[in-house]
Amino acid sequence: MSMGDLDDTSSETPLIFEIGRPGRRGSTLPEPDVPEKRVDAMVPKRFLRESPADLPEVSELQTARHYVWLSRKNFSIDSHFYPLGSCTMKYNPKVNEAVANLPGFRDTHPLQDPAQVQGVLQIFWELERILSEISGLPHITLQPAAGAHGELTSLMILRAYYRDRGEKRDTVLIPDSAHGTNPASCSIVGFRTLEVRSGKDGLVDLDDFRKKVDRRTVALMITNPNTLGLFERNIEEIAKILHGEGAMLYMDGANLNALLGIARPGDFGVDVMHFNLHKTFSTPHGGGGPGCGPVGVIDALAPFLPVPLIEKEDEEFRLNFDRPSTIGKVKSHYGHTGMVVRAYTYIRSHSPETLREISRQAVLNANYLLSLLRESYDAPFEGPCMHEAVFSASRQKEKGVRALDIAKRLLDLGFHPPTIYFPLIVPECLMIEPTETEGKETLDLFAKAMIQIADESQKRPELVMGAPRRMPISRPDEVAAARNPRLRWRRSS
Ligand SMILES: *Cc1c(COP(=O)(O)O)cnc(C)c1O
Repeated sequence: MSMGDLDDTSSETPLIFEIGRPGRRGSTLPEPDVPEKRVDAMVPKRFLRESPADLPEVSELQTARHYVWLSRKNFSIDSHFYPLGSCTMKYNPKVNEAVANLPGFRDTHPLQDPAQVQGVLQIFWELERILSEISGLPHITLQPAAGAHGELTSLMILRAYYRDRGEKRDTVLIPDSAHGTNPASCSIVGFRTLEVRSGKDGLVDLDDFRKKVDRRTVALMITNPNTLGLFERNIEEIAKILHGEGAMLYMDGANLNALLGIARPGDFGVDVMHFNLHKTFSTPHGGGGPGCGPVGVIDALAPFLPVPLIEKEDEEFRLNFDRPSTIGKVKSHYGHTGMVVRAYTYIRSHSPETLREISRQAVLNANYLLSLLRESYDAPFEGPCMHEAVFSASRQKEKGVRALDIAKRLLDLGFHPPTIYFPLIVPECLMIEPTETEGKETLDLFAKAMIQIADESQKRPELVMGAPRRMPISRPDEVAAARNPRLRWRRSS
């Protein structure tokens, strides 16, 4: 990298280890005016290294430039529109970070005596009450670390519940539009899965569903709105059928962004659900950071919740580990405290009315894009959608252009691609979720880019099929890139 070419993505980026020079420092400090104490006088020898760690020795400025430079090669929610479908990717308000960085949250330790962290426990307790109000489910645990972990926790709770009742149930029904984590969580718990078909309208086929529910059924795992962006209108009927067989209704809450303040899962028959704080409630998502996938349950399932439970008694918050039927611990300590504080901040910076506005805007934005793009791309389902819009690139495929090519071409035009090839039941699927945080100007620009690509697909398909051209790299072998990463990269042409 030379200094003048921060925007030239074609030049080689050295590793930070290659920039390093022995003895170079990020900062230098004056001689201390107090006696120095040697580290080995304070730390037991078994914890000390024998030789220094092999770390790059660089100045602060070199470090800052190196990472800012690398970050510019990436798309991020702060720099680009990110219209992923299913995984709500909304802007993370900076006030969340400011609050999570308050010393009382940032500098606490999970092993501190609960008496010293009453404020943290209060936030946990209050967020539980809020999620309970939003979902209509009376009991919440904030411990699971992600949506998939919430699924696993919920299924463990269901397994414990049926074991406790002496019922031998082993089958979980899952619609064919479901997210892959649903069946994966089932097999980890040891349940068998049975697929339920979607009808032409994109909703669970009730006849197929009725045929598959029986006394072996543990639950149906349903996403609502489903991953096609459609509200399962028959959800109450579905709950009735399950409950008639003694089974439960599980809701994958990844799409809760469409329901806030409008419909409560507990009111339409859901017995257990997970939330994704990193989707609906604007905590950071991806990049290896922690997530948080709370679980809500009805009264009958509450005894099986993981420990500890946070309880309030005489204005004091306590951790209750003494729960004989609990499934035990699913996460070290209490879960991801920083995420809980961020989600709490996000929710408290809205009123119940503006929380409802989030969902209304999310649905409006998705339908706006649906209406702008309907002529250029096939929309497989009639009528309006919820918070995400599904298209098929089957028309473009006649010219050889696939959903993948469209996604890659979007990168050249400055947009992160939407989700592609999911849900699996729509051929050449493009699933777009603008979220409520994007304004009309951005949606118009995105639609313009999508329409341009549709046009290019007809007139110059090879242009789309060869994209991206303006990115640091074009189309890596994704498996090889993950398994055998070449960290130093040089453009070959
Ligand atoms: C994101 C998502 C999940 C998994 O959640 P993670 O937090 O990524 O583990 C499950 N189901 C659906 C529908 C999702 O969109």
